[in-house]
Amino acid sequence: MKPAIPFDNSYAQKLPGFYTDWQAAQVPDPKLIRFNSELAKELRLDLPDDEASLAEIFSGNTVPQGANPLAQVYAGHQFGGFSPQLGDGRALLIGEVIDSSGNRRDIQLKGSGRTPYSRGGDGKAALGPVLREYIMGEAMHALGIPTTRALAAVTTGETIYREELLPGAVLTRVAASHVRVGTFQYFAARGEEEKVARLADYVIWRHFPDLGGQADRHAALLQQVAARQAKLIARWMGVGFIHGVMNTDNMAISGETIDYGPCAFMDYYAPDTVFSSIDQGGRYAYGNQPLLAQWNLARFAECLLPLLSDDKERAVETAMQVIDQFPALYREEWTAMMRAKLGLLDIEEGDFALAQDFLATMENQKVDFTLAFRHLADVLRGNRQALDAQYQATTLLEPWLAKWQARIARDAAAEPHSRAASMEGVNPVYIPRNHKVEEALAAAHAGDMAAFDVLMSVLAHPFEEKAGLAEYAKPAPRDAGRYRTFCGT
Ligand code: AMP
Ligand code: MG
Repeated sequence: MKPAIPFDNSYAQKLPGFYTDWQAAQVPDPKLIRFNSELAKELRLDLPDDEASLAEIFSGNTVPQGANPLAQVYAGHQFGGFSPQLGDGRALLIGEVIDSSGNRRDIQLKGSGRTPYSRGGDGKAALGPVLREYIMGEAMHALGIPTTRALAAVTTGETIYREELLPGAVLTRVAASHVRVGTFQYFAARGEEEKVARLADYVIWRHFPDLGGQADRHAALLQQVAARQAKLIARWMGVGFIHGVMNTDNMAISGETIDYGPCAFMDYYAPDTVFSSIDQGGRYAYGNQPLLAQWNLARFAECLLPLLSDDKERAVETAMQVIDQFPALYREEWTAMMRAKLGLLDIEEGDFALAQDFLATMENQKVDFTLAFRHLADVLRGNRQALDAQYQATTLLEPWLAKWQARIARDAAAEPHSRAASMEGVNPVYIPRNHKVEEALAAAHAGDMAAFDVLMSVLAHPFEEKAGLAEYAKPAPRDAGRYRTFCGT
């Protein structure tokens, strides 16, 4: 019996011409590596509970009843240069389900073989990058940041070639949708205005139902996408997350973080931090992310121009208004996020500067971004030691702490311990530290999943400090070489 999942495939049904129906490659020896049963429950999947059957499904060998596997087409600006056709070159949307909260979610296989959009690629994924995406996505979710998630990781029994021979694997990814800025760009670049309009109305139906039916809904869509990106990037910045490839094909219209490739979390605070080996110019450096989100948003706006007004000038004006307003929108989101991290309850004009000044205390000091915020709460409990220990010199920290204390004194009354506790609820103690991620991946490569499992259990509760896990809270040793990430998912 084929497993039955209650699929409801709106993309397949509503958007013919936006994809190619396709089948996953058969693989010789699928083995279930990890399965996210908590997420499966959330998705209301009623699946066989033996690992062999799950491996068959999540390798793509078995097509569940009601699935409609398809490869989506999209385009995208990659490092600023436009590629008119990308698309799912190694992924297949197998279908959509409605989760237990009533939200529509995509279930996608990544690494499931060649498709019409593979160009020169083999359509496959290696185990390391699959598990890396699993770790990063689940960590982001636990940090409360909108993200695609990992449902399953399966090895295929194949060996794939990436400068070296590696075990092949498939990741099952769950997303609010896989519609990207690049999806719009594909049709806009071909002058297919009617299709751009259909896609816009589809994402309004799926992600912004409140806008449905409004005459100015496409301008409102642009605004809403801008608002979600502003919020998302502010959240990234708050945890030191560096996406690494903010190409327009890697920006989801839903506002989720998508396509974990060479991403990594920053240890020592430095706005020019770049981990990706292919990001030579530092285009996607930590500090550039808000600017690049705005750049991507402008590319999205260009696609929508014909929908904004019949009058070209008016359309451009409407688009520019939203794009120009993005920095202010972002700054508001960032300041609100920082207010929570600094334990501030009221809103004061000077909060933006206060937060910036705290970051300035960290510059050129090799201060761990995560721990500096985490240990700020300890100061309220009368312990400055842990914070001071992050700094080589506290010359800038001293006056800043005085300003912060004065600001808190003007703030709504809060008992210091409860203020500290609420700060700890937003300043994680655990993030996926680069060296810990690498350690887990190396062990997994050698067939030992123990380190992966411990890491996942630590990252599942990033705000709760637990005994015996101190090493997971620490950055890589200061003398460790520069961390490098690669694209090979
Ligand atoms: P990404 O780096 O994941 O954002 O991918 C950029 C584009 O390259 C997408 O269209 C992918 O589907 C495609 N791609 C990446 N790796 C492969 C591969 N091994 N085989 C085929 N297509 C790929
Ligand atoms: Mg991508």
